[in-house]
Amino acid sequence: MIEYEPVIGLEVHAELLTRSKMFCSCAVVDSTEAEPNRYVCPVCTAQPGVLPVINRQAVEYAMMVGLALNCTINEFNQFARKSYFYPDLPKGYQISQYEHPLASNGWLEIEVGDSTRRIGIRRAHLEEDTGKLFHVGDHSLVDLNRAGVPLLEIVSEPDMRSVEEVEAYARKLRAILVYLGVNHGDMSKGVLRFEANISIRPRGSEELNTRTEIKNLNSIRSLVRATRYEIQRQIEVVESGGQVVQQTMGFDEDTGRTQAQRGKEQAHDYRYFPEPDLPPLHISREWVAEIGERLPELPDARRERFIQEFGLSLQDAVVLVADKAVADYYEAALAAGGDPKIVANWVTGELFRLMNTAGLEIGGIRVAPEALVELIALVEAGKINNNTAKEVLEIMFETGRGAEEIVEERGLAQISDSSALEVLVERVIAENPQQVQKYLGGKEGLLGWFVGQVMRETKGQANAQMVNEMFRKRLEALREG
Ligand code: ADP
Ligand code: MG
Ligand code: ZN
Repeated sequence: MIEYEPVIGLEVHAELLTRSKMFCSCAVVDSTEAEPNRYVCPVCTAQPGVLPVINRQAVEYAMMVGLALNCTINEFNQFARKSYFYPDLPKGYQISQYEHPLASNGWLEIEVGDSTRRIGIRRAHLEEDTGKLFHVGDHSLVDLNRAGVPLLEIVSEPDMRSVEEVEAYARKLRAILVYLGVNHGDMSKGVLRFEANISIRPRGSEELNTRTEIKNLNSIRSLVRATRYEIQRQIEVVESGGQVVQQTMGFDEDTGRTQAQRGKEQAHDYRYFPEPDLPPLHISREWVAEIGERLPELPDARRERFIQEFGLSLQDAVVLVADKAVADYYEAALAAGGDPKIVANWVTGELFRLMNTAGLEIGGIRVAPEALVELIALVEAGKINNNTAKEVLEIMFETGRGAEEIVEERGLAQISDSSALEVLVERVIAENPQQVQKYLGGKEGLLGWFVGQVMRETKGQANAQMVNEMFRKRLEALREG
C-alpha cells in the first residue's frame, strides 16, 4: 500500500492595528461591534474621482512583520489593482501588491515534538480589506466599516508536511503578530484569517501535485479540522482511482467536511496591473534599519531567555511564551518575588486548568500576578499545604479576593502543631490494630494509608510531611519494642 504525505502551504490574512485605514483617514474599528457604515468616506466607499494615500504606519507594521519573518524587505514596492466583482467591494477592484511585494524569501521556525523546522515564507504583501456582507432573510446588507482596513497577506512555501506542523505554524505566526503589536490575534473577530493549500503525494516523491485551497478558516481549530479532513479526502480520491481537481473549497463547521465552491481562479482572471493612482513606494535601507532596531523581543528569543535566565524546561518555556499576555503575567509574578520554577508550575498547571474550565483568557482573570505570589508564599512558609492552596486559588479565581484573607476566614491554615498531630497519630494506631500488624509484617506501603487517615480527619489540612514522619517513627518504635 502506498503511504501518502500531505504538502501544505498557508496564506494568512492579518488586519493591521493602525489607527486609520490603508488609503484614507477613516478610523479602524472593531467591525463586529461598531455601528455599520459609520467609519467610511468617499475613498473607502469608492466615490468617483477620489485618490488613495498610502498609510505610513501600515507600511512600517508590514516591515516589522517581514523582518520578524526573516524576509528581505524590498526596496521597490508597487501596488497593483486586482479586479473582481463582489458586493462588498464597491471599487470593483482591490488595491494589493502583485509583482513587487513588500517582503519576500523569509522563514519561520516551528517546534513539533522535540524537533524544530523552518517553514519558508514566500512573500508578505500589503493590501486592503473588503467590506462585510450580512444575509438577513432574503436580503443582503453591506457594511463598509472594514473596507480599506490595512491587510497583510503572508504566504508560506508549501513546506508543511503534517497537520501538527500546520497548527504549530499558525500558532507561532499569530504569536509573532501579537508580540509585534500589529494584530491582537482574536480570530473570532476575523482580524486573522487562514487559507490552507493542500495536496498529497506518495511519501518520498518530490512532486508538487494538484492542490485544493480551503478559504476563510476562522479559528485554529477549524484550520486543523479542515486540513485533516481534506488530506483524508484527497487520499480517498486518489486511492479510488480518481484525480484531485484544483478548486477553491469551504469548510462546513457543522459537518466537519470541506466542500467545493468554485473552480480555482488564475492570476490573469484578476487582470492585475500597476495601480495608476499610487506612485511606486521606495523603502530606503535606512528606514529598514530603523524599523529593525525598534523590533520588540519575539517569542523565540523570549523562550530562550526564559530557559537561560529562569532555568525553565524547554516545554514550560514554550507554553509560557506562546501567548504574550501569559508571558507578561509570568514575568510580573517573578517581579513580585515569585520563584521562577514554582510560578511556572502554578501558571501552567492550576491556573490554566481554571482558565480552561471558565473559558477565560489570562487578561480576563481576577487573580493578579502578585496575588498568586502571595498564595505561593503561604505554601512555602508552611502555612497551608499544596492541596489547600489549590482550593484557595479556586476561591481567589472566583472572587478576586486575597489568599491570606481566605485562609484566615475559612480556617484553612495547615496544622503543623506537633502535639495536636501526635494525638491524631496515636488514635489512628490505637483504632487500627490489624493494619498495624500488617505493616509490622512487612507491608510498609501502608504508611500512606495511615497518613491518609489523619489527612481525612483534618480535612486535608494536616502537614502531611510531618504526619508521615510521625507514623514512620511510631511504627518503627513498635517493631523494635
Ligand atoms: P495563488 O496565489 O494562486 O493562491 P500561489 O502559487 O501563490 O497561488 O500559492 C499559494 C499557496 O499555495 C502558497 O502558500 C503555496 O505554498 C501553496 N502551494 C502551492 N503549490 C502547492 C501544492 N502543490 N501543494 C500544496 N500547497 C501549494
Ligand atoms: Mg490563494
Ligand atoms: Zn475612508
